Amino acid sequence: MKTIGLIGGMSWESTLEYYRLLNEGVKARLGGFHSAKCLLYSVDFAEIEALQQVEDWPRMAQVLADVARRLEGGGADFLILCTNTMHRVANEIQAAVAIPLLHIADATAEAVRTAGIQRVGLLGTRFTMEQDFYVGRLKQRHGLDVLVPAAAERELIHRVIFDELCLGKIEPTSRNRYREIMARLVENGAQGIILGCTEIGLLVGAEDSAVPLFDTTRLHAEAALAFTLRE
Ligand code: GLU
Repeated sequence: MKTIGLIGGMSWESTLEYYRLLNEGVKARLGGFHSAKCLLYSVDFAEIEALQQVEDWPRMAQVLADVARRLEGGGADFLILCTNTMHRVANEIQAAVAIPLLHIADATAEAVRTAGIQRVGLLGTRFTMEQDFYVGRLKQRHGLDVLVPAAAERELIHRVIFDELCLGKIEPTSRNRYREIMARLVENGAQGIILGCTEIGLLVGAEDSAVPLFDTTRLHAEAALAFTLRE
Protein backbone atom coordinates (compact mmCIF):
# COMPACT_ATOMS: atom_id res chain seq x y z
CA MET A 1 0.00 0.00 0.00
CA LYS A 2 1.35 3.43 -0.92
CA THR A 3 1.35 6.30 1.59
CA ILE A 4 -1.02 9.12 0.68
CA GLY A 5 0.02 12.71 1.39
CA LEU A 6 -3.01 14.93 1.99
CA ILE A 7 -2.71 18.69 1.69
CA GLY A 8 -5.78 19.50 3.76
CA GLY A 9 -7.56 21.95 5.99
CA MET A 10 -9.26 23.88 3.17
CA SER A 11 -11.56 23.53 4.93
CA TRP A 12 -11.08 20.88 7.63
CA GLU A 13 -14.82 20.13 7.30
CA SER A 14 -14.13 18.46 3.96
CA THR A 15 -10.72 17.06 4.89
CA LEU A 16 -12.54 15.04 7.54
CA GLU A 17 -14.60 13.49 4.72
CA TYR A 18 -11.45 12.58 2.80
CA TYR A 19 -9.96 10.91 5.88
CA ARG A 20 -13.14 8.92 6.47
CA LEU A 21 -13.57 7.92 2.80
CA LEU A 22 -9.93 6.80 2.47
CA ASN A 23 -10.08 4.66 5.59
CA GLU A 24 -13.49 3.21 4.75
CA GLY A 25 -12.27 2.49 1.22
CA VAL A 26 -9.16 0.60 2.34
CA LYS A 27 -11.22 -1.34 4.88
CA ALA A 28 -13.82 -2.26 2.23
CA ARG A 29 -11.11 -3.53 -0.11
CA LEU A 30 -8.71 -5.24 2.30
CA GLY A 31 -10.98 -6.01 5.27
CA GLY A 32 -10.18 -6.56 8.93
CA PHE A 33 -8.09 -3.90 10.64
CA HIS A 34 -6.75 -2.45 7.40
CA SER A 35 -6.74 1.34 7.13
CA ALA A 36 -5.20 3.96 4.87
CA LYS A 37 -1.51 4.81 5.23
CA CYS A 38 -1.47 8.57 5.09
CA LEU A 39 0.16 11.78 6.17
CA LEU A 40 -2.06 14.83 6.63
CA TYR A 41 -0.79 18.38 6.67
CA SER A 42 -3.75 20.53 7.65
CA VAL A 43 -3.20 24.27 7.10
CA ASP A 44 -4.80 27.13 9.00
CA PHE A 45 -7.50 27.99 6.46
CA ALA A 46 -7.76 31.59 7.73
CA GLU A 47 -4.27 32.25 6.32
CA ILE A 48 -5.18 30.80 2.92
CA GLU A 49 -8.59 32.49 2.80
CA ALA A 50 -7.00 35.90 3.45
CA LEU A 51 -4.66 35.32 0.49
CA GLN A 52 -7.61 34.17 -1.67
CA GLN A 53 -9.39 37.45 -0.96
CA VAL A 54 -6.53 39.42 -2.49
CA GLU A 55 -5.88 36.70 -5.09
CA ASP A 56 -2.22 36.39 -4.11
CA TRP A 57 -1.80 33.12 -6.01
CA PRO A 58 2.03 33.27 -6.05
CA ARG A 59 2.13 33.37 -2.23
CA MET A 60 -0.44 30.55 -1.96
CA ALA A 61 1.66 28.52 -4.39
CA GLN A 62 4.72 29.02 -2.15
CA VAL A 63 2.84 28.02 1.00
CA LEU A 64 1.36 24.86 -0.53
CA ALA A 65 4.57 23.91 -2.35
CA ASP A 66 6.30 24.04 1.04
CA VAL A 67 3.61 21.75 2.49
CA ALA A 68 4.06 19.37 -0.45
CA ARG A 69 7.82 19.19 0.18
CA ARG A 70 7.24 18.43 3.87
CA LEU A 71 4.86 15.60 2.99
CA GLU A 72 7.31 14.21 0.46
CA GLY A 73 10.10 14.43 3.06
CA GLY A 74 7.87 12.64 5.55
CA GLY A 75 7.44 9.67 3.25
CA ALA A 76 4.34 10.31 1.13
CA ASP A 77 4.38 8.39 -2.17
CA PHE A 78 1.91 10.75 -3.85
CA LEU A 79 -0.18 13.81 -3.02
CA ILE A 80 -3.78 14.88 -3.08
CA LEU A 81 -4.78 18.51 -2.59
CA CYS A 82 -8.14 18.39 -0.79
CA THR A 83 -9.75 21.44 -2.43
CA ASN A 84 -10.79 22.27 -5.97
CA THR A 85 -10.00 25.98 -5.70
CA MET A 86 -6.38 25.57 -4.74
CA HIS A 87 -5.76 23.52 -7.88
CA ARG A 88 -5.28 27.01 -9.30
CA VAL A 89 -1.67 26.45 -8.14
CA ALA A 90 -1.45 22.71 -8.88
CA ASN A 91 1.35 23.16 -11.42
CA GLU A 92 3.52 25.03 -8.91
CA ILE A 93 2.90 22.37 -6.25
CA GLN A 94 3.76 19.57 -8.68
CA ALA A 95 6.93 21.35 -9.75
CA ALA A 96 8.14 21.46 -6.13
CA VAL A 97 8.19 17.66 -5.63
CA ALA A 98 9.20 14.47 -7.43
CA ILE A 99 6.09 12.50 -6.35
CA PRO A 100 2.84 12.78 -8.36
CA LEU A 101 -0.08 15.05 -7.46
CA LEU A 102 -3.41 13.45 -8.44
CA HIS A 103 -5.47 16.29 -9.94
CA ILE A 104 -9.07 16.52 -8.67
CA ALA A 105 -10.47 17.64 -12.04
CA ASP A 106 -8.95 14.65 -13.83
CA ALA A 107 -10.46 12.17 -11.37
CA THR A 108 -13.83 13.90 -11.77
CA ALA A 109 -13.76 14.23 -15.55
CA GLU A 110 -12.96 10.54 -15.92
CA ALA A 111 -16.09 9.64 -13.94
CA VAL A 112 -18.20 12.04 -16.02
CA ARG A 113 -16.89 10.50 -19.25
CA THR A 114 -17.40 6.96 -17.95
CA ALA A 115 -21.05 7.86 -17.25
CA GLY A 116 -21.38 8.81 -20.94
CA ILE A 117 -22.06 12.46 -20.11
CA GLN A 118 -20.89 15.25 -22.41
CA ARG A 119 -22.59 18.41 -21.11
CA VAL A 120 -22.02 18.99 -17.43
CA GLY A 121 -22.94 21.75 -14.96
CA LEU A 122 -20.30 23.01 -12.51
CA LEU A 123 -20.79 24.37 -8.98
CA GLY A 124 -17.85 25.64 -6.91
CA THR A 125 -16.23 28.78 -5.60
CA ARG A 126 -16.21 31.74 -7.95
CA PHE A 127 -12.53 30.99 -8.66
CA THR A 128 -13.39 27.47 -9.77
CA MET A 129 -16.45 28.46 -11.82
CA GLU A 130 -14.88 31.51 -13.45
CA GLN A 131 -11.18 30.84 -13.97
CA ASP A 132 -9.55 28.80 -16.66
CA PHE A 133 -7.52 26.43 -14.46
CA TYR A 134 -10.59 24.29 -13.82
CA VAL A 135 -13.16 24.85 -16.57
CA GLY A 136 -10.37 25.00 -19.16
CA ARG A 137 -8.96 21.67 -18.00
CA LEU A 138 -12.39 19.99 -18.19
CA LYS A 139 -12.91 21.35 -21.68
CA GLN A 140 -9.48 21.04 -23.26
CA ARG A 141 -8.05 17.96 -21.61
CA HIS A 142 -11.29 16.00 -21.24
CA GLY A 143 -13.48 17.36 -24.05
CA LEU A 144 -16.46 18.19 -21.80
CA ASP A 145 -19.01 20.97 -22.40
CA VAL A 146 -19.19 22.90 -19.14
CA LEU A 147 -22.15 25.03 -18.02
CA VAL A 148 -21.82 27.41 -15.09
CA PRO A 149 -24.70 29.21 -13.32
CA ALA A 150 -25.54 32.89 -13.99
CA ALA A 151 -23.52 35.60 -12.20
CA ALA A 152 -25.95 36.18 -9.29
CA GLU A 153 -26.24 32.43 -8.75
CA ARG A 154 -22.45 32.03 -8.76
CA GLU A 155 -22.23 34.70 -6.07
CA LEU A 156 -24.80 32.87 -3.93
CA ILE A 157 -23.01 29.53 -4.34
CA HIS A 158 -19.67 31.12 -3.41
CA ARG A 159 -21.10 32.87 -0.33
CA VAL A 160 -22.73 29.70 0.96
CA ILE A 161 -19.39 27.87 0.66
CA PHE A 162 -17.45 30.48 2.65
CA ASP A 163 -20.11 31.81 5.05
CA GLU A 164 -21.68 28.45 5.87
CA LEU A 165 -20.13 25.19 4.65
CA CYS A 166 -16.49 25.97 5.49
CA LEU A 167 -17.72 27.00 8.96
CA GLY A 168 -19.64 23.78 9.48
CA LYS A 169 -23.12 25.31 8.98
CA ILE A 170 -25.63 23.28 6.99
CA GLU A 171 -28.71 25.44 6.24
CA PRO A 172 -31.89 23.97 4.66
CA THR A 173 -32.64 27.32 2.94
CA SER A 174 -29.26 27.18 1.19
CA ARG A 175 -29.94 23.60 0.16
CA ASN A 176 -33.14 24.80 -1.51
CA ARG A 177 -31.27 27.56 -3.34
CA TYR A 178 -28.70 25.05 -4.58
CA ARG A 179 -31.52 22.76 -5.73
CA GLU A 180 -33.07 25.61 -7.73
CA ILE A 181 -29.73 26.50 -9.33
CA MET A 182 -29.07 22.86 -10.23
CA ALA A 183 -32.58 22.58 -11.75
CA ARG A 184 -31.81 25.64 -13.92
CA LEU A 185 -28.58 24.03 -15.13
CA VAL A 186 -30.58 20.95 -16.09
CA GLU A 187 -33.13 23.14 -17.97
CA ASN A 188 -30.16 24.60 -19.85
CA GLY A 189 -28.99 21.15 -20.93
CA ALA A 190 -26.75 19.81 -18.16
CA GLN A 191 -26.83 15.98 -18.17
CA GLY A 192 -24.90 15.83 -14.90
CA ILE A 193 -23.56 18.27 -12.30
CA ILE A 194 -20.06 18.45 -10.82
CA LEU A 195 -19.99 19.39 -7.13
CA GLY A 196 -16.72 21.22 -7.74
CA CYS A 197 -16.08 22.24 -4.17
CA THR A 198 -15.15 19.68 -1.56
CA GLU A 199 -17.78 20.91 0.95
CA ILE A 200 -20.84 20.91 -1.35
CA GLY A 201 -21.44 17.20 -0.77
CA LEU A 202 -22.15 18.11 2.86
CA LEU A 203 -25.18 20.15 1.68
CA VAL A 204 -26.71 18.35 -1.31
CA GLY A 205 -26.95 14.75 -2.49
CA ALA A 206 -28.45 12.66 -5.29
CA GLU A 207 -31.97 13.26 -3.95
CA ASP A 208 -31.61 17.00 -4.66
CA SER A 209 -31.00 16.65 -8.38
CA ALA A 210 -32.77 15.24 -11.43
CA VAL A 211 -29.42 14.34 -13.03
CA PRO A 212 -26.36 12.48 -11.66
CA LEU A 213 -24.10 14.44 -9.30
CA PHE A 214 -20.32 14.10 -9.45
CA ASP A 215 -18.98 14.80 -5.98
CA THR A 216 -15.32 15.78 -6.32
CA THR A 217 -14.47 14.77 -2.74
CA ARG A 218 -15.68 11.20 -3.29
CA LEU A 219 -14.20 10.88 -6.76
CA HIS A 220 -10.83 12.27 -5.70
CA ALA A 221 -10.74 9.92 -2.70
CA GLU A 222 -11.65 7.01 -5.02
CA ALA A 223 -8.80 7.92 -7.36
CA ALA A 224 -6.41 8.07 -4.40
CA LEU A 225 -7.63 4.65 -3.22
CA ALA A 226 -7.07 3.10 -6.63
CA PHE A 227 -3.58 4.60 -6.74
CA THR A 228 -2.60 3.64 -3.23
CA LEU A 229 -3.61 -0.01 -3.72
CA ARG A 230 -2.19 -0.38 -7.23
CA GLU A 231 0.77 -2.79 -7.37
N1 GLU B 1 -12.91 23.34 -0.40
C1 GLU B 1 -13.29 24.27 -1.37
C2 GLU B 1 -13.01 23.83 -2.79
O1 GLU B 1 -13.05 22.65 -3.03
C3 GLU B 1 -13.27 25.71 -1.08
C4 GLU B 1 -12.31 26.20 -0.04
C5 GLU B 1 -11.10 26.74 -0.72
O2 GLU B 1 -11.17 27.86 -1.20
O3 GLU B 1 -10.08 26.05 -0.79
O4 GLU B 1 -12.81 24.61 -3.67
